[in-house]
Amino acid sequence: MNNTPLTPVTVIGLGLMGRALAGAFLAAGHPTTVWNRTSSKAEQLVAAGARSAPTVGDALKAGSLTIVCLTDYQAVYELLGPDEIDLAGTTLINLSSGSSGQAREAARWAEQRGARYLDGAVMAIPSGIGTADALILHSGPQQVFEAHEPTLAALGTVTHLGADHGLASLYDVAGLTMMWSVLNAWLQGTALLGTAGVDAATYAPFARQMAVGVAAWLPGYAEQIDKGSFPAEVSALETEARTMEHLIEESEALGVNAELPRLIKAMADRAIAAGHGGEQYPVLIEEFGKPSPHTGIG
Ligand code: NAP
Repeated sequence: MNNTPLTPVTVIGLGLMGRALAGAFLAAGHPTTVWNRTSSKAEQLVAAGARSAPTVGDALKAGSLTIVCLTDYQAVYELLGPDEIDLAGTTLINLSSGSSGQAREAARWAEQRGARYLDGAVMAIPSGIGTADALILHSGPQQVFEAHEPTLAALGTVTHLGADHGLASLYDVAGLTMMWSVLNAWLQGTALLGTAGVDAATYAPFARQMAVGVAAWLPGYAEQIDKGSFPAEVSALETEARTMEHLIEESEALGVNAELPRLIKAMADRAIAAGHGGEQYPVLIEEFGKPSPHTGIG
């Protein structure tokens, strides 16, 4: 039996997510110190064995690792920015959501004040924390991640994406566009089929099969993007554009919202106008990779 004491950790910010994070550390047996602006949110955790630090400064000194989980980066600066807060020698992992630019700026700020800093993104809801389904992304110095990986594993499946502190936030938003695009496509189809009396539950298994089938194309399409070469091995973009027209016409004819299909078609039309009609779908990366044109859409 291994009696090595587990690493002491601190969690600052006990909102819905912070409480779940602290609870998972406690459940895994880590001595856990907590601090929250509204101190009553620590009560349940204290009852479960956490120590409530009297000040945020005490909380920072308590563990060899401090997880910060606040509303946003502004809250992090408001809380940890004042001169009397000593960050020197601490290891901070900031799981508050924000942009990649904010993450890089926060890393500079924390490192200038003598802290080791990882930025992170929680790709899970509070009830999933502490299970393998909770994906938690980290970016920043690899040796800092490796030093704390066994402790962080109490939270879920933890991953290090690279030294660039902005990567976790970028993956976070990339995941959001995947989530909303799949959901919106499903809702569009559900609305179309609803006009024929097909209910959402009947369509859902078919939609799932389509989504999984399309997802299987991604590795091959990614190779085309990385090579910058888009031979039409399956079908040409101009063929796809004609089916987009069918989707728009059908939506309009059935009185269903056609904004999403029109946006999809507008992007394909621009790529075709730029001479890419004979190439395969992922050639659209060129449209996605530049600023939005002023089309009146969006
Ligand atoms: P929440 O329940 O609203 O909690 C926000 C926390 O931030 C509270 O502890 C709050 O303290 C604290 N806070 C805000 N401004 C502060 C300030 N100026 N000084 C000190 N403390 C401050 O939010 P949450 O759901 O826990 O989310 C926290 C972060 O996790 C967010 O960035 C969110 O995007 C991210 N996240 C959440 C989920 C989720 O499902 N909940 C999933 C993924 C990522 P008080 O209690 O005193 O107000």
